Amino acid sequence: MLNSVKGMMLTFASAVKGMRKPVTRQYPTVPTPVQDRFMGFPALTWDDAVPEPFCTGCMVCIRNCPTQCMSASMMDNPLHESGDSSRRKIIDYFEINLNRCILCGICVELCNFDAIVMSHEHEMSTYQRNGDRVDLPALLEIGKKYQADTNWIPPTVLAKQKQEAEAAAKAAAEEREAAAAGAGE
Ligand code: SF4
Ligand code: SF4
Repeated sequence: MLNSVKGMMLTFASAVKGMRKPVTRQYPTVPTPVQDRFMGFPALTWDDAVPEPFCTGCMVCIRNCPTQCMSASMMDNPLHESGDSSRRKIIDYFEINLNRCILCGICVELCNFDAIVMSHEHEMSTYQRNGDRVDLPALLEIGKKYQADTNWIPPTVLAKQKQEAEAAAKAAAEEREAAAAGAGE
């Protein structure tokens, strides 16, 4: 009986406009926001400091991709020859068939150059069988958007910052200990 009354009240509350916040979104008119940790399609990152892609075309991700959905080739980096870049090789061609990508993130885990990220892009349905083969300029565009949206810092830079902070904290603790020992003497 009590449950029936509760159910009727809920139905009444739902029927009266404005009494209850909507629990659904008008997707795709209103896009669903994603968390920072969300893993969408892989994309390539852009090094603003040079400027050029982080990717050197080393092929590590391509050799280890479980679905073999990536292909790439490298070239000599003209910016290295002119002294503007530390990268001797640079990506020349890159393609990912996103229809075959299973979003496993292995490519990101294995890249030693901070060159690839799991972006927030997840809406790329097409009617063509090969409509989701994405080339280098498009992968870089997705990557740049992800970098801007998340204030992306390269993982190796983050790791270095963490190491330095830990070393500074350790040195400060040792100094405090030494000062305390000196005061106790
Ligand atoms: S996320 Fe996985 S399947 Fe997709 S490109 Fe990277 S390694 Fe390949
Ligand atoms: S994304 Fe990373 S692992 Fe893949 S080819 Fe570029 S530099 Fe190598």
